[in-house]
Amino acid sequence: MTTNRTFTMIKPDAIANGHMGAIIDHIIKAGFKVIALKYTSLSPEMAGKFYEVHAERPFYKDLVAFMSSGPIVAAILEKDNAVADFRTVIGATDPQKADAGTIRNLYAKSIDANAVHGSDSDENAMIEGNFFFSAFERN
Ligand code: GDP
Repeated sequence: MTTNRTFTMIKPDAIANGHMGAIIDHIIKAGFKVIALKYTSLSPEMAGKFYEVHAERPFYKDLVAFMSSGPIVAAILEKDNAVADFRTVIGATDPQKADAGTIRNLYAKSIDANAVHGSDSDENAMIEGNFFFSAFERN
């Protein structure tokens, strides 16, 4: 089933570097409606659970440490073809390879501290949104 929602996080590097407002503005100007929005932090345990699918990857420990190193913004976004369109808006995982004008090209410096997360499938968008927001928060 295809849905019209995706999930994003603004990562600790982007918050620390003062890009939170610019990134939210970029997302809205790209045509996404904000359904739910939360400024919070992840404990190492929560970050580990969120990125459990990457548990076997060599960078998992670094990723969990980074994602629990400072505040993040979590959001559910709505737009036709949300998952794929949002991946286009954020650009490639490695900011050096991200197209000009994408969020990672504009606001990220490295493959680990890459400014934003974007769901990679409708199924994961649902799981990730549910991880952060209760049912009444994501109407
Ligand atoms: P995404 O879907 O574009 O976020 O990329 P992936 O699902 O492949 O990886 C998840 C996250 O892990 C990325 O956004 C990065 O923050 C991090 N990551 C990916 N590759 C590396 C790497 O080679 N080294 C480190 N330290 N982090 C990485």
